[in-house]
Amino acid sequence: MLHKVFNFCAGPAAMPQEVMYKAQQEFRNYHGTQVSLLEMSHRSNLFDEVIKKAEANVRFLMDIPDEYGVFFIQGGASFQFAMLAMNLLPPIGKADYIDTGRWSQKAIEQAKLIGNVNVIASGKDIGYTAIPQVDELIIDPGAAYLHFTSNNTVYGTQFHEFPDYGNNVPLVCDMSSDIMSREVDVEKFAMIYAGLQKNLGPSGMSLVIMRPDMIEKSYRVLPDLLKYSTYDHYHNLYNTPNSFAVYMLSLVTDWIREQGGVGIVERINDVKSEILYEEIDRSEGFYNGFAFAPDRSRMNVCFNLPTTELDQKFVAEAAEKGMVGLAGHRSVGGIRASIYNAMPLKGVSRLIDFMTDFKKKNS
Ligand SMILES: *Cc1c(COP(=O)(O)O)cnc(C)c1O
Repeated sequence: MLHKVFNFCAGPAAMPQEVMYKAQQEFRNYHGTQVSLLEMSHRSNLFDEVIKKAEANVRFLMDIPDEYGVFFIQGGASFQFAMLAMNLLPPIGKADYIDTGRWSQKAIEQAKLIGNVNVIASGKDIGYTAIPQVDELIIDPGAAYLHFTSNNTVYGTQFHEFPDYGNNVPLVCDMSSDIMSREVDVEKFAMIYAGLQKNLGPSGMSLVIMRPDMIEKSYRVLPDLLKYSTYDHYHNLYNTPNSFAVYMLSLVTDWIREQGGVGIVERINDVKSEILYEEIDRSEGFYNGFAFAPDRSRMNVCFNLPTTELDQKFVAEAAEKGMVGLAGHRSVGGIRASIYNAMPLKGVSRLIDFMTDFKKKNS
C-alpha cells in the first residue's frame, strides 16, 4: 500500500493504512449484508462479534487478567478525568496526582471539582521538560489512588518507569497517547484509560481497564452511565455504544496482532524514536530536543529550530514533501513529530532525510 502522505498529527492521529483500507472495503456492505455496520443494531449477531472481538483483542494484546473489566465508554479521555474522580474519590479522603503538563493538569482540575486532590509532584517549575521526581516522604499511603499520565503528548515526555512505592495505593493511569505502544504489566494498575484517537482508533471513545475491586467503588449516587459498574453489568451494552469506534478498535487491534503483538510493535517504536532523536542530537543545536533526554517520549518527538520563522518554514516545506501534522502544540510551538504505532519506519526515515537536507540548506 502506497503512502503518498505521512501524517505526524498528535491526535486524532494516523491509523494503519491496512485498517483504513479494510474499513473502506466493508463500509457500505458489511459481510455481504448490503448494510453498513453503522446502520446495524448493536444487538445484532454481527455487531456482537465485533464488540466481542474488540474486547478479546484488547485482553490478549495487553495480557489483562480475566477478572479485570474492559470498558468502552463514550467521551474521550477528558470525560474520564471527571468520571474516575466521581467513582473513585471518596467524599472524605483524597487522591494524589503527579502533574506532568497539560493533560494531567486537566485531570487535576476535574478531580478538584469532585474532591480533595494532592499534587505530590509537578514538572511546572521546569516547564514540563522532564518527569518530576516524587519525594517519597510526602506520599500518603491512605490516598484513594495515585493518578499519572504515562506519556505527555504535548511536551513529549514519558514515564519509562512507573511509580511504584510499594504502599498499595491504587495506580490510575491516563495512557491515551502510549497505550499498546509498549508492554505494560496491567496487574500493577487499578485503572488504565485511554482515548482511542492516538494509538487505537477514532476520537470520542475511551478504553477503560479496571481492577475488579475498583469497579464497584462508586462513593456517590451517580446516574447509571457515569458508573463503571453499569458497563460491567451490561458488558458495554447498557445503551448503544459508539459502534463505529468499537469496530475501528477491533480492526486496529487485529492489525497489532498481525504485526506480532505489542512486544514487536514496541521494538519498532524504539527504533523509530531512537533514529529520530539521533538526528536531533547530531544536528549540534540546529534541532533542539524539548525534553530531558532520559524522559524523552517514544511517541511524540518535540523539538525547536533556531527561530520561529525556521519552525514555520520547516512545517511548510515538510508538508510540500508529504509530511503533514508536524506543528507543535499551540502552547509549546516548535515541531512535534507524533510517531504512534501506525507510523511506519519509512515515514520516520523520510522525515530524517528531510531534516538532514533542511539543515544543510538553512544553517
Ligand atoms: C489526547 C489526550 C487526552 C484528551 O483526550 P480527549 O479524547 O480529547 O478527551 C487526554 N490525555 C492524554 C494523555 C492525551 O494525549
